Amino acid sequence: MTKSEQLFEKAKTLIPGGVNSPVRAFRAVGGNPLFIKSANGAYLFDEDGNRYIELINSWGPMILGHAFEPVEEAVREAIQHSFSFGAPTRKEVEMAELIVEMVPSVEKVRMVNSGTEATMAAIRVARGFTGRDKLIKFEGCYHGHGDSFLIAAGSGAITMGTPDSPGVTRATALDTLTAPYNDLGAVEKLINANANQIAAVILEPVVGNMGCVLPDPGFLQGLRDLCDKNDILLIFDEVMTGFRLAKGGAQERFGVTPDLTTMGKIIGGGMPVGAYGGRKEIMDMVSPAGPVYQAGTLSGNPIAMSAGLAMLRYLNEHPEVYTQLEATGAKLTDGFRNSLLKLGLNFTINHIGSMYTLFMTERPVANFVDAKTADLPLFGRYFQAMLKRGVYLAPSQFESLFLSVALTDQLVDQIVWANEESLKEVV
Ligand code: PLP
Repeated sequence: MTKSEQLFEKAKTLIPGGVNSPVRAFRAVGGNPLFIKSANGAYLFDEDGNRYIELINSWGPMILGHAFEPVEEAVREAIQHSFSFGAPTRKEVEMAELIVEMVPSVEKVRMVNSGTEATMAAIRVARGFTGRDKLIKFEGCYHGHGDSFLIAAGSGAITMGTPDSPGVTRATALDTLTAPYNDLGAVEKLINANANQIAAVILEPVVGNMGCVLPDPGFLQGLRDLCDKNDILLIFDEVMTGFRLAKGGAQERFGVTPDLTTMGKIIGGGMPVGAYGGRKEIMDMVSPAGPVYQAGTLSGNPIAMSAGLAMLRYLNEHPEVYTQLEATGAKLTDGFRNSLLKLGLNFTINHIGSMYTLFMTERPVANFVDAKTADLPLFGRYFQAMLKRGVYLAPSQFESLFLSVALTDQLVDQIVWANEESLKEVV
């Protein structure tokens, strides 16, 4: 038995499913999850001493690679002053100032501890601000594990929400309406059928959570226009895309400004941080400025703020990071496309900047129904074949991969080689 296998056996007796977040258990791809001991640059090292080139980067945060010195140095400095005060600090002000500078829609911002907290708070604020109860979300978008977001799609344009998880009440589910991604017509129908009842439309402006799915041209602007016309708040969940697709996230890249933005992942530099922000008059609804309650014992934690600040400052001051990530993403996906051509395969690659997914389907993927045509057993075999060749992918077809600046051209060549050999082996 490997050390990872031993640890997993023990973990299953102590932790539900042996993991603290479901996808880590490798259920979708089979086999035993690797227990990771350390990471450096583009590499993960497991408990058995194996080394992997990785394309998850902690599900997004490690955009500058692991053990990035300026972030480590900031944390080393911060821990000398105690770990938490539960009182305001200079770092929080600096963090807020930097976020406001970097993210176009944000005039005021509140720090929380995770992306889930950010989205839960954002919809509460949207409801408080509009005095309305209902939300529109998109099938296949993930916004964390808040009750309001764990809602499956119904059929037809006007859906009655069905909870996606036991424990979510039917009453909660009824307030979340769902539409297919990239379907403006469906959104318009929902809005018309629920006139003056929709508080917010929330979406991932580029989706990572059904695999990487891009907004069709005009989709984001179309939502902006529909929301404006109907006094509905538009919320971009930029937990994945924020500070990744551009310094100012997808909203900068696509030139569409939401009313509220939720952030996470990169904003903490690898520490547990989330944030939500937006227009002043909306954010001034939040307690103690306004009546919408939201709080947190560890919110704005000084160690987490130091890591996040070091990360964001670096990104803000080094635009070449984004140029490099664009080039890396293009080189990697061009390499994949060449291999597909060579092997006579017509699988779909969705790609933007440093996010991509190779879908095991020939169908173009613009929404969750398309994504679900992927051959999942084939993806499982591909995942294992890549792992055998030293490349650690997200253990699910329905995830985006995330590139970091630690990926050198040589490593990209290695991944492209592994991809071609793996496809040859498993298809
Ligand atoms: N929103 C999006 C778009 C996400 O991808 C995630 C997590 O992957 C979340 C929200 C939830 O963030 P967290 O896992 O930090 O609670």
